[in-house]
Amino acid sequence: MATAKARASLPTNAIEAQGLDKTYKSQPGQPEKHALKTIDLAVPRGSLFGLLGPNGAGKSTFINILAGLVIKTGGKAWVWDIDIDAQPRSARAAIGVVPQELSLDAFFTPREIMEVQAGLYGVAPRKRRTMEILEAVGLVDKADSYARSLSGGMRRRLLVAKAMVHNPPVLVLDEPTAGVDIELRQQLWSYIRELNRRGTTIVLTTHYLEEAEELCDSIAIINRGRLIACEPTRDLVGRLDNKALQLTMDRDMTAVPAALEGFSVDLQEPRQLVVRYRKNETGIGQILAAVQASGLAVVDLSTEEPDLEDIFLELTRGDNSHAAESR
Ligand code: ADP
Ligand code: MG
Repeated sequence: MATAKARASLPTNAIEAQGLDKTYKSQPGQPEKHALKTIDLAVPRGSLFGLLGPNGAGKSTFINILAGLVIKTGGKAWVWDIDIDAQPRSARAAIGVVPQELSLDAFFTPREIMEVQAGLYGVAPRKRRTMEILEAVGLVDKADSYARSLSGGMRRRLLVAKAMVHNPPVLVLDEPTAGVDIELRQQLWSYIRELNRRGTTIVLTTHYLEEAEELCDSIAIINRGRLIACEPTRDLVGRLDNKALQLTMDRDMTAVPAALEGFSVDLQEPRQLVVRYRKNETGIGQILAAVQASGLAVVDLSTEEPDLEDIFLELTRGDNSHAAESR
């Protein structure tokens, strides 16, 4: 049995989902919402894993199911090899979730908030590590100040601390840097990296590609409730190194100049060419040299990096299944 195995040895995957599905019931005046569509996903133990997707993709739904905060409507899920249906309490004990909203009791102090949370998780008083954790997130000085007097960044760190009272092997942060300024973001990231180095499996959700790229060793992308990619960050970014160079020429063209035929080129307007290339393979210099060889002169140029939107388009191209579905 999976659970017995988990106790005896460390699991291969910190989180596993098979065919995970969620439909939110209809609200008055609103149709039901198919928020997760048969997601299969494994988060290897020890990884710093990014769950990336635009707003509304289903990221929070996914992690809230694992945390026992949202009831799934289909599929199976395990946290630390523990089946969330068969042993919901044990599964919940294996995961700490830092919620997306900055919700804290304004009239409690960090020390009190930590103690209450430890009580909720049944951590015996002598096993509590309140000050140790507050120290780790840099809040010892504020242990006895009201939460309402904490800055946004401090509140975020307090939520991280709160998610760790029961020392879970898996820590999930839902959009951890929303509303956190750049300096604190760096601080939070280095703390997250440190936790990960010490063995905690980290999952973070974000809608910023850069954030996932900088922090995570693997990235899964979800869009409209569907998993559309899941691979090591390096591979994903390598796949996404397409760039586009837009060139405006000095005269009208009727076809793509012969000198440019080796590239992927579109004649968009009589004077405008768009050259698509991979920046790992082709330099702009090569393209411009080819243009020059064609005898045309460039009067203007601009480049475009793919943003998340382009990436979704690219990854979902050919997958029209969602277009026909009701959302
Ligand atoms: P994300 O975290 O990626 O922004 P969510 O998981 O919050 O996405 O939401 C996924 C979809 O489910 C969205 O369309 C959202 O409006 C819908 N949704 C989320 N929570 C509820 C709910 N409690 N009731 C109905 N629909 C919901
Ligand atoms: Mg969310």
